[in-house]
Amino acid sequence: MNAALLLADQGHRVYLVEREARLGGIAATVRTTLEGDDVGRYMSDLVETVQSHQKIQVLTQAIIVDHKGMPGRFTTGIQTGPRMHYMQVEHGVTILATGALANRPAQYLLGEDDRVLTQLDMDAKIEDDPESIRSMKQVVMIQCVGSREPGNPNCSRICCQSAIKNALRMKALNPDMQIYVLNRDIRTYGFQEDYYREARKQGVQFIRYEPDRRPAVRALENGLVVDAYDDILGCRLEISADAVVLSTGLIADDETTEDLSMLFHVPRSDDSYFLEDHIKLRPTDMSVRGFFLAGTAHAPKSIRESIAHGQSAAGRAMTMLAKHWINLGAAVARVDGAKCAACLICVRACPYNVPFINAEGYSEIDPAKCHGCGICAADCPARAIQLMQYEDDQILAKLDGLFERMN
Ligand SMILES: Cc1cc2nc3c(=O)[nH]c(=O)nc-3n(C[C@H](O)[C@H](O)[C@H](O)COP(=O)(O)OP(=O)(O)OC[C@H]3O[C@@H](n4cnc5c(N)ncnc54)[C@H](O)[C@@H]3O)c2cc1C
Ligand code: SF4
Ligand code: SF4
Ligand code: SF4
Repeated sequence: MNAALLLADQGHRVYLVEREARLGGIAATVRTTLEGDDVGRYMSDLVETVQSHQKIQVLTQAIIVDHKGMPGRFTTGIQTGPRMHYMQVEHGVTILATGALANRPAQYLLGEDDRVLTQLDMDAKIEDDPESIRSMKQVVMIQCVGSREPGNPNCSRICCQSAIKNALRMKALNPDMQIYVLNRDIRTYGFQEDYYREARKQGVQFIRYEPDRRPAVRALENGLVVDAYDDILGCRLEISADAVVLSTGLIADDETTEDLSMLFHVPRSDDSYFLEDHIKLRPTDMSVRGFFLAGTAHAPKSIRESIAHGQSAAGRAMTMLAKHWINLGAAVARVDGAKCAACLICVRACPYNVPFINAEGYSEIDPAKCHGCGICAADCPARAIQLMQYEDDQILAKLDGLFERMN
């Protein structure tokens, strides 16, 4: 939404495609940030501004069904609304901001016992039912639930600060409450560290556990009991708790990123997030020109970081939209139609689906789409393809020079 607003404010027409009936995503369920921002109000203002913007057309209950074209001139087919009305949209760039999923693994009695919650559940409970927090004596939080383990080796990045945020809010409501945070290490990076220190100052107990000695949760009628092993004390602990709060984090939306990566021919990382072109130099651009990334579709991020990423995506998109032309790279593949036997090898070999057999019956490569990887040139049995800047005679001349120097 932030990327859409920035582009629309610059005068560009934006189509915002949302698969749900309402805008907001997971951020709409977060109540406050660690820094104390009122996320609920921010989100409702943002949704209203986006929906009333003259340059933004919001398409809800929408699914992308087809896509073609080249950077600067894409055509995408969308089915939208309860009746799945089909429409085509012409657009110059695409920003992928499909987010990730809130992880809810069936661990530590989550889903079986109402007293076991996630940090997101606790975030809402503190706001909606402060009385229940005031009546609690002891709460145990367990970090890295469903993260940093074989099925999902990533750190979710947001759950340590989410735990500290909720611990501080619970302490504000009920200063006598004892809060134990069982963790593998606390990852409150940057200025979040100040809040971690504040939580320690207020008496929140941080206890480390090792992955091979995980805590266990037992349900009793009058409360929960958490068994843990304290590495520093070198002994077993048994902590009774009115509630256990699990820091469950984020996981990639594998189904969505797979569908969209097949449709748009954009790459994904091994862990099913969309992949940026270069982690340091082009963290918002994708390797397919005209595609940009924003938010947790790329990797776990906080709301502030997701907003910054969205703004960065809009800025990068603007650099394309502001021009009436596109500079193409010089290293692109070119087909000699007279040599082509239309064997389809290049059509199948290209990782970006660029070559196609044209009406004249030979392979054609659109230089605007070609990435210059050279795979088709190497595979063509008829030697009908040359990669510009790396043509056969150029490579052979270089090799000749090299051999001459060696002799
Ligand atoms: C348990 C948990 C606790 C968190 N706590 C905090 C916190 O305390 N502080 C904080 O700053 N951040 C927190 N976060 C992170 C925060 O939720 C994210 O930073 C934020 O939601 C990312 O926004 P986004 O727009 O990238 O993705 P999302 O909010 O996930 O939005 C993505 C949108 O894309 C839509 N979509 C998905 N696929 C498609 C498709 N194929 N076609 C069309 N639309 C599609 C979705 O319906 C959704 O509306 C938490 C996250 C979780 C899971
Ligand atoms: S942010 Fe903290 S709780 Fe979440 S996965 Fe990383 S280390 Fe574990
Ligand atoms: S050079 Fe690479 S990207 Fe270009 S058409 Fe050949 S295989 Fe596809
Ligand atoms: S691999 Fe070579 S011969 Fe076969 S279709 Fe492509 S360009 Fe033509």
